[in-house]
Amino acid sequence: MMFKRTLRRLSVRISVVFLLIFIIFGTVIYGYVSYRFFDKVDDSMRLKANNLGIANGRIVFQSRNRWLFDPRILIFLRDTDGRVFNMFPREEIDVERLAELIAHTPPTGRIYTKEIEDHAYRILNIPYLYEDNILQTDRGPIVVDSIIAVSIVDSEVAALGDLLIIIASGLVTGMIIIIIAGYYLARRSMVPIQASWEKQQQFVADASHELRTPLAVVKSNAELILRHPGHTVEEESIRVTNIIREVRRMTKLVSELLTLARSDANQLELMISAVSLNQVTETIAEQFVPLAEMEGLTLTIKIADQLELMADKERLHQLLVILLDNAIKYTPPPGEILVTADKHGNNIIIAVEDSGQGIPAQDLPRVFDRFYRGDKARSRESGGTGLGLSIAKWIVEQHGGKISVENKAAGGAKFSVVLPIKKSS
Ligand code: ADP
Repeated sequence: MMFKRTLRRLSVRISVVFLLIFIIFGTVIYGYVSYRFFDKVDDSMRLKANNLGIANGRIVFQSRNRWLFDPRILIFLRDTDGRVFNMFPREEIDVERLAELIAHTPPTGRIYTKEIEDHAYRILNIPYLYEDNILQTDRGPIVVDSIIAVSIVDSEVAALGDLLIIIASGLVTGMIIIIIAGYYLARRSMVPIQASWEKQQQFVADASHELRTPLAVVKSNAELILRHPGHTVEEESIRVTNIIREVRRMTKLVSELLTLARSDANQLELMISAVSLNQVTETIAEQFVPLAEMEGLTLTIKIADQLELMADKERLHQLLVILLDNAIKYTPPPGEILVTADKHGNNIIIAVEDSGQGIPAQDLPRVFDRFYRGDKARSRESGGTGLGLSIAKWIVEQHGGKISVENKAAGGAKFSVVLPIKKSS
């Protein structure tokens, strides 16, 4: 529902943007072409009109290079009474036909296009400012007020008309394509948004569900304790222990949820510095060797000397804790857990393998998913939340690395982490 409205709004916006671009493009093309069409004509008209003068009652060209002037440009003279006389070339045109139009054009020096009786004319009217302004004509002397240059521009106007039709019909067909394209683009850009929205919805639903179980356990145990107000703590120790265990689980779950929620919001920054992997594994060994022993497992750590990389030390530690926690959780005694690390080119490859029963093939691609747990009962029993590996994956990817899992031929799971060293050397 929400997405439908956004989709509609987004497609309308995309279409409008496209349409504006199209209109601007069309206007620029039309403007440029019409400028190119008329530019030459206008120049020739100005040249010819500006060159006219009157000497001893006769028209003269100030420049001797008369061949410079375009013979197709007609020149008219207008007297102070608004009467129009055709001068060049006299015989070609009917003065009367144009007289009316030209008589009303003010001598501004500006050029414009006008259609008269199926023909398009380009007209320039400039005031005649010289002192010698008396012209002798067949009809007697006239006082010249302005000079008018006229050029027939039928072909230019027709071509521009065609261009306008092409642009307009392009716009109409373009509109249809634009709307379809706008809708398509909007849909395309909504897909990842919708996917991550649904993922978040799922995440919230799963998280609430996960929190409900321990809460129910805490509630029922507390209620059971309340039933016997006379009992000592010792007598109710199993229930108290249950409550403490569930609260601990919930605390872990909430802190993991917070990590993932913050990572989704890009609020978690890595504190990158030069880290000695040997140092990190030393701390890990101190923590986990006794733990593994308690569970009847042997933990061996075999890592190359002086492995250094640019990383977030805390996160690297957390990553190893998650992998080792799982290895211990899912390996029955007597078993073996092996941690190896070595340099391969620009990467460090860390592997955590165990001798447990491994992961069923159909679960392999899903173990890094949030809340994914292979054996729900077993995982819950051992305090699993199903979030460990998704946090591990986030840590590795934030470092620009890759994490993968496979089953060993000899049985047991093997998690491999490839981390770029990125030495600033
Ligand atoms: P959990 O809290 O359930 O351990 P994880 O995200 O850490 O959640 O792991 C997801 C699932 O992957 C586990 O429930 C388990 O089925 C499987 N898994 C993880 N590590 C191992 C392992 N070393 N051996 C076998 N299965 C494993």
